[in-house]
Amino acid sequence: MRVSLDYDSCQGHQMCAIAAPEVFGSDEIGNAKILISGDVPEALHAKVRRAESNCPERAITITE
Ligand code: SF4
Repeated sequence: MRVSLDYDSCQGHQMCAIAAPEVFGSDEIGNAKILISGDVPEALHAKVRRAESNCPERAITITE
């Protein structure tokens, strides 16, 4: 699993960081930032799926 973010759509709700704090943080203006590069460890897949489904802006894309 890989995860990407549409920075233009992100509105900084931080729902993603609540769902998967190991994967999503915030940048200097409070929008989301992906904290890991490359493949998401399997143990975090469920959290990332929750983050993706909770994002109100549909800014998170999962690729498998
Ligand atoms: S929930 Fe979506 S829009 Fe909000 S900070 Fe996270 S990625 Fe951005």
